Amino acid sequence: MPQDHANRVPLILCVDIEPDERDIRTDRDAAGPWQATDDCLALIAALRKDRRERRAEPVLVNWFWRADPQIQETFGRADFAVTRFLGRIQHEGDPADEHGNHPHAWRWSDARRVWFNDFADADWIAHCIRLSHETLVGVLPRRPTAVRFGDRFTSAAAVRQVVALGYTFDLTPEPGHRRIPMFDREPLTTGALPDYRKTPTHPYFPSPEDPTRAARSGSGPLRTIPVTTYPHRWLTRRYPFVRSRVATLNLADPPADIQAILEDARKRRTRPIVAVMRTGDFDRHRGPIQANLLTLFARDGIRFATPHTFEDP
Ligand SMILES: [Zn+2]
Repeated sequence: MPQDHANRVPLILCVDIEPDERDIRTDRDAAGPWQATDDCLALIAALRKDRRERRAEPVLVNWFWRADPQIQETFGRADFAVTRFLGRIQHEGDPADEHGNHPHAWRWSDARRVWFNDFADADWIAHCIRLSHETLVGVLPRRPTAVRFGDRFTSAAAVRQVVALGYTFDLTPEPGHRRIPMFDREPLTTGALPDYRKTPTHPYFPSPEDPTRAARSGSGPLRTIPVTTYPHRWLTRRYPFVRSRVATLNLADPPADIQAILEDARKRRTRPIVAVMRTGDFDRHRGPIQANLLTLFARDGIRFATPHTFEDP
């Protein structure tokens, strides 16, 4: 192990393995589009191989699997993605890679023939978590212990449920984001995305009443590792591109934005850095994802970690 190991910033790279479209409207009965993932996995495998050859240390990636009702109904079986991609990932990857659960709350409306996020129905959310968890337990190499809820949704009940199922890490929250009542502009959407303005930017034990906040006790069965964000800053002031939104370290975003977030994280000594991406974005956002992954895999000051290894000395 190189001596500078402890000085380098742990990076938890979360790759959500997802279909090309978020909202699969075209033909519900066909084996819908899941094309972009293959090229995306090939790129990650090549970059990882290259980095391994340069450095004598593990290069770990965190895979988050979809196995929820939208996957089951669209692709015929909830374990569609795992069946199609896990063998390849295990062959190209590291045995210590993290394999986690990424349940979305999409629900099909027969009347409107659309998918919508049913965030307000606690029974539906519980069903999504249960189906994806039970499916993944049956097919993953290890029982999953890390979760990332889809679309940064969370609730006290959802976190209670994953704790009861044995999860010990939640990598959902994106600190700084405001409550969003009508996410994805679909009129059938119910509920809202949580208010993350009081969410810590470092790992914390969530309050049992509100998982967007830290527990007073400072302990608990599950630890939240928030995604790295860049809160309330000007990303660019050049008219007409004036933007002051909270930015998430999502690798589909322009490389200049990603550089700004990484620079801010360096100044604020954010540990670990948590980056996210979805494989389904690789067709539409190939340029930025490629450039951002290249930057990260070439970087010397970081080490690729999982929730289980980011604190290793
Ligand atoms: Zn997702």
